[in-house]
Amino acid sequence: MTLESHSIVTLGYYGPEFARLHTGWFWQSMDEAHVRTRRLINEIWSEAYLYFIDRYLDEHGVFWTAFHEYIAEDIEVDSGFDIQGADYYEYYLASKALDDQRLRARWYAAYEMELGMVLICEECGKAQHTLMVRPAVYRRGRGLPSKCSDCIFK
Ligand SMILES: [Zn+2]
Repeated sequence: MTLESHSIVTLGYYGPEFARLHTGWFWQSMDEAHVRTRRLINEIWSEAYLYFIDRYLDEHGVFWTAFHEYIAEDIEVDSGFDIQGADYYEYYLASKALDDQRLRARWYAAYEMELGMVLICEECGKAQHTLMVRPAVYRRGRGLPSKCSDCIFK
């Protein structure tokens, strides 16, 4: 089994440093869409909503971000507000998770645990980093697929 070497810092879709959100830039950004999203969601946000993130982090570890749409739906049911109508709402959710010391620590721990993990494709036998599994694929199967992305999308 051989693996290409990837830069650990940028590997995959799921780490807390994805889109560099760990720096907190989203809260400072003056980009019109970011400002608008913050204003809209701040109005209905409750810290209790962190529970919805917590639940997916608990069940799926670092792959919790594949479920941001479901988390948004949970919040929408409670708040009556269409947060998915706000651009970058997933950045908002991830930034909230990073602001919470406990969630941040668990997200980092889950990411570090997943680094270097691979799945072996049952079709072609190739190894693929689990962190490179597309979020939609993970979400659809509610877990890691048995095939690599090349075989899924050929
Ligand atoms: Zn394959």
